[in-house]
Amino acid sequence: MIAAITAGLEGIKAATDLLKILNATSTQTQINEVKIGLQRSLLEAQGGLFAAQQADAASLARIHDLERQIAEFKNWETEKERYELKAIGRGAFAYALKAPVESNQGGPWYCANCFENGKKSVYQKQPGNVARSQLGIPTIYECSACPSKISP
Ligand SMILES: [Zn+2]
Repeated sequence: MIAAITAGLEGIKAATDLLKILNATSTQTQINEVKIGLQRSLLEAQGGLFAAQQADAASLARIHDLERQIAEFKNWETEKERYELKAIGRGAFAYALKAPVESNQGGPWYCANCFENGKKSVYQKQPGNVARSQLGIPTIYECSACPSKISP
């Protein structure tokens, strides 16, 4: 953005210098040359300032995006304090609300992989679990965001 502002200021300075020259000109040819130079300088100044304006808008958008990310990060830091990684059986671990394990039986359990990446993704029962339970096979829960599965 500094380069764009500099280009704009240089265009304005060149235009000002041309106006000084205009006072010393006496022929129509010289006046026409100064006019052309003046137009070129003003176009350069306009282009430089337009580029600076675009760079400023891009910077403001980036600042807004970073402020949003910071707010999300702070919210996540607060939210994640409510949960802890728990052993939920058969070597399976998941994040659940900080409370006695008994009160979290049946979930909701959150995928440890996703949770540590800043997302709460609930483990969902797989559709084939009715048949599995009839055969005495443990229920399988699947993360809704990644391939992680648990069988507590
Ligand atoms: Zn996951």
